[in-house]
Amino acid sequence: MGISSYVHRIQWNSRFIPCSSASHLPHLLPWFELRAEKSQYNSIGNILDVYNSAIDFHVVCAKAPLLLGIKDFLSREPNPLRAWAIAERYNIEESKNEAARRFIQTDEDLLTPAVRELQDIPALPYNTLLTVKRDILLRARAAVLNVIWGCPSCSRPSPKWKAAYLTRVSGQNPFTPEIVQDSIFELCCHTAGCLGCPGTFQSQDAQNARQRLKTNLKSILDGVDVN
Ligand SMILES: [Zn+2]
Repeated sequence: MGISSYVHRIQWNSRFIPCSSASHLPHLLPWFELRAEKSQYNSIGNILDVYNSAIDFHVVCAKAPLLLGIKDFLSREPNPLRAWAIAERYNIEESKNEAARRFIQTDEDLLTPAVRELQDIPALPYNTLLTVKRDILLRARAAVLNVIWGCPSCSRPSPKWKAAYLTRVSGQNPFTPEIVQDSIFELCCHTAGCLGCPGTFQSQDAQNARQRLKTNLKSILDGVDVN
């Protein structure tokens, strides 16, 4: 696209842009080009460059659509710690929480290889992220530990199926999908329970207990707030 086309578009959009000096054109060109075709955003760094330009030049109306694009990139960023760091730097609350939830669901610290974006973050918000992760995992593990329904044959002090279940899920992140699957409970009832345990699996108490665990874990994760 020739320079005259950009000048035309700047004039066409003049209500958005307080400066029209030709010396600013090189900085504004990427914004126009990429805003015209969203598919041209091919990386998070790319769209952040445009967003920074929009801020530098006070192109206020560009911020909202660019933020939508940034949120979309962050939701697809494979490393949730990197997504969180970017969201923290730009104070995108929704993306911060979404990234924190994904970070909590992994047992990795995700610091190797180094997340370069952490250099832009003060230590205190990072400390908050780690503290929230620790507290959420503690609550979730307590919820897993508390799942129980009785067996008429072996409920004291605790049904045998439960000891087998806790052994099986020990060491796993409490948000691992397998932990709430009916099949794992059924397996524990049949392979490690007493003769009465398999018959309890389909009882209303058992169904309620498993549903309560799912609901509790979802509620704990939904409640994550690192802002
Ligand atoms: Zn039993």
